Amino acid sequence: MTGFGSTEISKSDIVNAINTLGISGADVCIHSSMRSFGAPMKNGLKSITDAFMERFCTIMVPTFSDIYEVRPTKQFMPEQNGAGDYSFFLEQSYAEVKPFTVESKEISAGDMGAFPKFVLESEGSVRGNNPLNSFTALGTNAKRLVGRQSFKDVYAPLKQLCADDGYVLLMGVGLDKATIIHYAEQVAGRVPFVRWAYDENRKVVPVSAGSCSEGFRNLDGILDIYARKITVGSSRWVCYKAQEFVDICSRAIRNMPNITHCDDKECDRCNDAIKGGPQLPADFWTKGL
Ligand SMILES: [Zn+2]
Repeated sequence: MTGFGSTEISKSDIVNAINTLGISGADVCIHSSMRSFGAPMKNGLKSITDAFMERFCTIMVPTFSDIYEVRPTKQFMPEQNGAGDYSFFLEQSYAEVKPFTVESKEISAGDMGAFPKFVLESEGSVRGNNPLNSFTALGTNAKRLVGRQSFKDVYAPLKQLCADDGYVLLMGVGLDKATIIHYAEQVAGRVPFVRWAYDENRKVVPVSAGSCSEGFRNLDGILDIYARKITVGSSRWVCYKAQEFVDICSRAIRNMPNITHCDDKECDRCNDAIKGGPQLPADFWTKGL
């Protein structure tokens, strides 16, 4: 892509990129590295949100918040849960926190990056109701996108993104940041792992949460032909239709379960995910084991 003569990235550069990708008016789940732009953003991160709003998009970002994790209790510690013998979770220390609410602005900013934090703090943003792996959306369809997320249904926003003919946009990051591959794992029959947080009464309850993503770059080869690509500053953007992306990934996972495994053969999370994740009794979410 040429035409970005100035060293500063401006809103119009972003608008041009949205137009070129053909995603105006769509719901877009964004995973981003602001450093990837290699240049300062004129008017800061607002240039990005303003550009998407101007093009009638609803944007969604991951706003995960590890701080709400609490120590597990026995009835919510299933087998094959990517937790080994649970000693890591039983022995580590946890922050003293108030129960999560969708009004919370807490975010694991170091892992999520600057843009999700900015979206979360933007006026009118809507956060999904999962204490550990929430998504936050901004724009006309925000409530519809994240409104069904719950402690149990962590990937409801990604399911809705697919139903809305939305897109996944990777701004200068790789497939290892594409949370939607965890949703594809679920579609392929894997059960997401159980972690723990407080409910509103400060009772420890199970929370559905993500797994290891380090191996997701293994899917690059089969996804490449479906990618729309563009460069903004020095940031390489790769964009996929969400439903198509999930169809391709879930099929690949069914046919080659090991494709999602990271480089660590001993990785509890990858090994258990490939076996199908925790096999939970029907009343697990209300009663536990
Ligand atoms: Zn792993």
